[in-house]
Amino acid sequence: MDHPGLLLHGLSEVSLFFAVSAGASSVRGRGACGNRSSGRVVGRFHASGPAGEPAALDHGWRVSMSSREEAAALAGLLGGDVRTGRSGSEWITRRDRFEITLDGPQSLDFRMVTRGRQGEHVCDGVRHLRPATIAGEACGCPPTWSQRRAASRAGRGPKPEITLRFRLVEAPEAGPFGMLSSSWVLTEDIDTVLGRLDGTNGPVTAGLSIDRRSFITPAGIEVVGQRPRLRLLSSVP
Ligand SMILES: [Zn+2]
Repeated sequence: MDHPGLLLHGLSEVSLFFAVSAGASSVRGRGACGNRSSGRVVGRFHASGPAGEPAALDHGWRVSMSSREEAAALAGLLGGDVRTGRSGSEWITRRDRFEITLDGPQSLDFRMVTRGRQGEHVCDGVRHLRPATIAGEACGCPPTWSQRRAASRAGRGPKPEITLRFRLVEAPEAGPFGMLSSSWVLTEDIDTVLGRLDGTNGPVTAGLSIDRRSFITPAGIEVVGQRPRLRLLSSVP
């Protein structure tokens, strides 16, 4: 299981340190938006620790797989000690960065979601994605990512929900893997990548990594912020 709440908490703390792009942007009109990256995955990459343990990892990714044998084989290749429980096997990789293959824009799903008593708001930052009766209509969210983040933090706007589906370049036969995130920084990366992939349809190589920094809050507490990052590596025609 992923723990977006814990992760988001860490990310909200770290925003004190990381500037947010003020440029207006959206994923409007891009084919992948709102389409769930579907299909079976053999495992998931998590930027946060397992349930019951600190959300922040001090290195690597937590990889969870349902197959003990496949987990052992991949951990043997990537490094890390597998532990197996009732829900599967997982381990922490020794590296923060992996080269991955995305099948195309459809491998990235991004949406902004609020679920509450007043109902659901599901949009791409600019337009409603559902329900079908209002899909495509202006959703009323602010025009920039920094304003959307501020609105969300104030309880007045939706949060990102990101799904990635990918294979590892060094072990393509081991995949596909999935990753879920609610990171605002990754949201901006996704926006950039989808912008470059707009109108294309084919596999591309990207770098998936974690930025990790610790800082001291005004209350004197050390907080580790960790943010998944995605950067396109292959050139797009
Ligand atoms: Zn909206």
